[in-house]
Amino acid sequence: MWSNHINYYLSMRTHQLVLSWIENELSAGRLALGGRLPAERSLAEHLKVSRTSVREAIRILEAMGVVRAGVGSGPEAGTVVISDPTAALGSALRLHVATQHLPVADIVETRVLLESWAAAKARPDAPELDEAADLLHAMDASEGLDISGFLALDVRFHLALANAAGNAVVSAMMGSLRESIQGYAAELTSGLPDWDATASRLRTEHREILAAIREGDGGRAATLVAAHIEGYYKEAGLAAGL
Ligand SMILES: [Zn+2]
Repeated sequence: MWSNHINYYLSMRTHQLVLSWIENELSAGRLALGGRLPAERSLAEHLKVSRTSVREAIRILEAMGVVRAGVGSGPEAGTVVISDPTAALGSALRLHVATQHLPVADIVETRVLLESWAAAKARPDAPELDEAADLLHAMDASEGLDISGFLALDVRFHLALANAAGNAVVSAMMGSLRESIQGYAAELTSGLPDWDATASRLRTEHREILAAIREGDGGRAATLVAAHIEGYYKEAGLAAGL
């Protein structure tokens, strides 16, 4: 039993050693986006750790969206440095929402913060607004679109608006909230008195938000998107701050 514990702590130490070596290489610019990590065996020899520790470190980095582990040989083989911040943020947020550490009210407030900023900054000629308009068309379909299908399009519409602001960090944060937003929105539908009435109101509000951005009225777009997000939440019987 004790030796198991000791082995666990030893392996924890060594895989952290591999992690900090990789972090240093990235910070120093010796390892960059698209670059390859040394082969498992040579990295293990270089750092004087077991190959298991190297593998453990790579698994962690993979889950964080920092590397993509390759298999086999040839030009596609090896572990490549990538950048997918939403992979890590998204799954971490989803898990914490599931464990109730991230209350829905806080997600709603964060959406209002990010989305009203993005609506105010969105460029009226941003190509993402065309995508947003197409999504609104798809949401008008009266047949073959159930509640979850509607909500999935709704989230994509909001992501397109956020992307139109052209801020990579805000886009990554919104992308990582995607599943949390869709999850809570779906859960709240049971508290809505009349889904069809809500859906028709949401459609109208979406058009007004998009129109305000296209007209270059960022202030109005920001106010409308905040009211849109909070309105849905309140209609489901919850008030912000509870
Ligand atoms: Zn919406």
